[in-house]
Amino acid sequence: MASINGDWFHSRSSSNLEELLTVRTLVLESQKPEYIGFSWSGGRSGNQKMYKFAAAADIQPSTMQTKIRAMIRYGFIKDGTQCPLIWTRMGSLWNDLYTVGNYGAAQKVYELTLTISLAIYAFNNTQVQYSINPANGEMPLRFLLNILDTQNSISIREFEALVDGNTQRVGDNASYWKRDLINSGLFQEVQGRLFYTGKYSDFIQEIKSFEPSPFLTGVDWQSIRENPLIEISPFKDSIRSIFEAITQEQNIEEQITDEIFTAPLVDAVAEQEEIQIPEIDILSSDLRFSQSTRRIRNAAWSIRIKKKYNYICAVPNCDVIGQIFVEAAHIKPDNAQDSNIPHRAHILNGLCLCRHCHIAFDKGYFSLTDTHKIITSARFNDIPNQNLKTAIISSANIQIKNRMDRRLPLVEFIQYHRSNRFKG
Ligand SMILES: [Zn+2]
Repeated sequence: MASINGDWFHSRSSSNLEELLTVRTLVLESQKPEYIGFSWSGGRSGNQKMYKFAAAADIQPSTMQTKIRAMIRYGFIKDGTQCPLIWTRMGSLWNDLYTVGNYGAAQKVYELTLTISLAIYAFNNTQVQYSINPANGEMPLRFLLNILDTQNSISIREFEALVDGNTQRVGDNASYWKRDLINSGLFQEVQGRLFYTGKYSDFIQEIKSFEPSPFLTGVDWQSIRENPLIEISPFKDSIRSIFEAITQEQNIEEQITDEIFTAPLVDAVAEQEEIQIPEIDILSSDLRFSQSTRRIRNAAWSIRIKKKYNYICAVPNCDVIGQIFVEAAHIKPDNAQDSNIPHRAHILNGLCLCRHCHIAFDKGYFSLTDTHKIITSARFNDIPNQNLKTAIISSANIQIKNRMDRRLPLVEFIQYHRSNRFKG
């Protein structure tokens, strides 16, 4: 019988908010220069740095590793073993909202992230045990939803039997499962029974009847977890309406504009490390403070650019859309020397790009011709084939998408990018 007895979170950490807040502290700590490249998952014995890192969150290294691994599984942190810890798109959205004090919206994003994680994990009897590709085993949430009684409920006793009934190795898994189901907002416990709350009804209907496509690979599912709205995501329509509801209800965009906090610090810093742009004014002693100063400078400009493009990635064959998943990219970089035309907040010095295209553009994998067509770099040969690469390469020689006002970026800014960033 199919069951939900997968070894859900053997790490024995929960999805409770306080655990996520602990990991949030570690994310901040992990971007200090002394930790960049440090393996947080490494050996603990005699490892003074490991103790020091864990102490930032007032915990022991083993506890710390457990909590980080759990948050990777829940989809808040990107998979990896080295500092800095990087939020996923969902994680960074939660962190942004929490940081600006919009706890209501942050709670909703937290619940949705847990729901997506619960929905797509699949379990099997192999050594691997679990997968984020639902084609690789039984999807416990689908199974559970489909055996609820007419009241949409199941008794705790039955639930425990399902989770722990036929496995000796993972006893007492039921309490972890139960907590995650409740934290996600999908279930409530009332008088010895778990009741489905009716939350996300369209998404839940899709999960109940979901048959995973064999063409979606583990890498694809990683991207879907990172951004559940991308084109290949089977749940994109229902999740998009959940996002729209949260956005309208909580006025997220205004909140972000007012509070000036559009992207997670850790990603920005990691990118800086990668691209090795000297940004003396930004990477000063207090990363948090200086980064928010930069955000203040950029935020109004950023919102305007995204609106001009109607929140669609400007790369012709990239189909990322949605205000939470696109960013405003400077063509002539923010930190470039001034010339006769002030460029930092110039409305024709911006492109609306999805996060991935933004990074590729900043790193010079592609640029624009004077006639606003995409040109791509031979350096693309260095990275493996994947959807993003295909989207950009297949856009070569095609003009970028039009803005609502049909204006195009200034050639002066494009030429700067081509000469200074593009790796031709
Ligand atoms: Zn894109």
